[in-house]
Parts: sequence; C-alpha cells; structure tokens
Amino acid sequence: GSVWAGVPQAPPDGILGITEAFKADGDSRKLNLGVGAYRTEEGQPLVLSAVRQAEQRLVADGSRNKEYQPMGGDATFCQLSRRLAFGAECPASAAGRIATVQTLSGTGALRVGAEFLKKHYAVKVVYLPDPTWANHGNIFGNAAGLELRKYRYFDSQTRGLDYQGLLSDLGAAPEGAVVVLHACAHNPTGVDPTPEQWQGILRVVQQRRLLPFFDSAYQGFASGDLDKDAAALRMFTSAGLELLLAQSYAKNMGLYGERVGAISVVSHCADAAKRVHSQLCAVVRPMYSSPPIHGAAIVVKVLSDPQLFGLWRQELAGMSRRIQAMRTALKQALIEVRCPGNWDHITAQIGMFSYTGLTKAQCQNMTNKWHVYMTMDGRISMAGLSGARARYMAEAIKDSVL
Ligand code: PMP
Repeated sequence: GSVWAGVPQAPPDGILGITEAFKADGDSRKLNLGVGAYRTEEGQPLVLSAVRQAEQRLVADGSRNKEYQPMGGDATFCQLSRRLAFGAECPASAAGRIATVQTLSGTGALRVGAEFLKKHYAVKVVYLPDPTWANHGNIFGNAAGLELRKYRYFDSQTRGLDYQGLLSDLGAAPEGAVVVLHACAHNPTGVDPTPEQWQGILRVVQQRRLLPFFDSAYQGFASGDLDKDAAALRMFTSAGLELLLAQSYAKNMGLYGERVGAISVVSHCADAAKRVHSQLCAVVRPMYSSPPIHGAAIVVKVLSDPQLFGLWRQELAGMSRRIQAMRTALKQALIEVRCPGNWDHITAQIGMFSYTGLTKAQCQNMTNKWHVYMTMDGRISMAGLSGARARYMAEAIKDSVL
C-alpha cells in the first residue's frame, strides 16, 4: 500500500472547480460566468496594451538580469503601489509610517498579513463580511489559525447593504478585533457602502478600536476611477488609524497569473513601521524567500511612465465601461423576455460581479440545462457576458426562476 493511502480527497474549490467543469462541457452555447476574470466582447482574455508595451521595453532592456529580489520585493514597486492606493498626498506615507512588501498577488498579501497578525497582534479575532470571498475564511481561519466571526453585510430583502446589522455587529465586537473590509466592489455582492455609510463604519471602528484590514482587489475596476475606488481606504487613513491593506494587480492591470500584489501596514510612527517591515520579511522568508520579478517590473513601468500610465487608465475605464454595459444589456434582456421579478439590482451593483439572487436550485438549472457556469450562491461574473449572449442568458434566467 501507499503511505498516502489515508489521504482523503480534498473538496473541490467552489470557484476554480467551475472552470474545470466548463472546459469539460462540449455544448457550443456554454458560458463561463464563474471565474472573476475580464473577457472581451468576443469572450477572450485581454492583455492590456499598456502591459504589452511595458513588457516589450523590459525585453529590449539588455541590462536586466534574473537575480533574486530581496524578501520584501522591489522597493520602487512598493513605493508606487503605496502611492496608487493611499494617494500622492498621503501624510502617513510621506512620514514613512507605511511598511509595504511585494506579495504573490492579493491572496499572498492577505496570507502574509494574516500570518503577521497571528505573530504580532494580540487580538486573534477576525470579522469577515457575510457573505465574503470564500478564500478569506481559508486564509484567516484554516491557514493563520485566527478565530473567524461574521458581520452582517448583505440584506437579501433589499439586495443592498444591511447597514444597521453591520453597525450593530461591529459595535458588539471585542475591542481591538480585526475587521476585513472590501475597499470597493465587494465580492460577491457588488454592494458597497455609500461615502456616508463609510463614515458610520469609521466611527464604530474608532469606538471599538477595531483594526481594519482593507482588501483592495478591484481598484479602478469598480468605477473606472482609481482615486474614487480608494476613497474608503484614504478616509480611514486620514482619520489617523493604524490598518492593513492587501493590494492586487490581477484585475485592474490584468496580471492574474503573474501574481503581483502588495501588503501595506500603517503605523503611528516611522520607527514601528520599520520594525513591522522587518517582520513582514520574516514571514515571507520561510514561505517562499522572495517574490518573482516579472510582474512587479511591468507594474513599475506602467506606474512610472506617464504615457503608459495614461494608457492604462484609459484601458481600465474601458473595461469598467464594458462591464457596466453588460449590466444594462442583461437587465434590458430580462425585461424583454418578460422574466418575472425586479432586476434593478443588476445595474445598481458594481464591480466584476452581480449577485443575481438566484437560489442554489435555480443556479443548478442554469448550469445543468443551459450550460451557464456560475457559483451556486447566484454570483455571475459580468465580464464573462457579451452583448450577443445577453438574450440567451436572460432566457436561461427566466427558465430557472419560473
Ligand atoms: N480579494 C478579493 C475580494 C478577490 O475577489 C480576489 C480575487 N478573486 C482577491 C482578493 C485576490 O486575488 P489574487 O490573489 O488573484 O490577487
């Protein structure tokens, strides 16, 4: 027998498993709305022109080598990432109060941040929105061993934010607890607090002395505007809070498989930030020693060259617009096919996803009968849709809700 005879089969990942099932489906009408990756109107993956041009310059530069990076990655990358998130005018950043290290995309940023908290933060309780991106539970709970609690977020009646529930759950949190906040474009619901509601959340965070951990996986993707999508993070930072930020370039720069992101920790003084930086590096060392070069080099080129930066912003706004257009097209098609129910939430929600409100049984019908692949919580990736397929999608939804 094998020494692995007792190894049980791991449960399939709720999101990544969908792509496998999609690939195995031979029906020509099939649609993959499971994975959160941008697609063109033709259903193809998109490499941004800004990224292509940055890569061409990197290849042409014969002086580049393949040496190891330091544990914290490229310092210029970290500085530019900090500026992108916190803004050019951030006093905390100018005072050297933010420690940043390059990570393996947003997941790696969350993982390094969670491990740092486990080792160096006294309160081991983490509040996650209900619902949230499924990997949050894996990262903070299973991997880092922190105690998970939920705070109310989505109201299925209004299909909007359960603002009072959120305030009352965070108001009852133990002092110092960590609270994970989606910086913008909440995944999976597409529901974000308004600026006034963010002020209210800030107040309860200050009252309970909670430690905010912002997860920013969609900066620029939600509204098409990089600064607008960073407003909540900047509001909390300006209020003088200590906090953490996980950044990902997967969606906004289309660098999914390059695995490029950053973790930042804001401290009250530069001296603490320096020590925190050393401990972030100490988390990285036994996990993977140092991060890869290529993705970070692309980001540095795009963020530091005014022409590439301008091009990127245009392309980012274009992706955001196409997603918005798909929301309008789907809602319109649902009305045209006379699908029962109110579908205003499809255009009210923002970001990559729409939380349709379909039940698990309805989602199963979508997949089994209509070859529409999606997560069983009713979430669909809007970028997976095209104008040409909106009608088909509406027919499938109508058949599933009837
Ligand atoms: N957080 C949230 C909320 C996400 O939706 C994602 C992407 N699915 C991530 C983090 C991180 O993704 P990645 O590791 O690809 O950057």
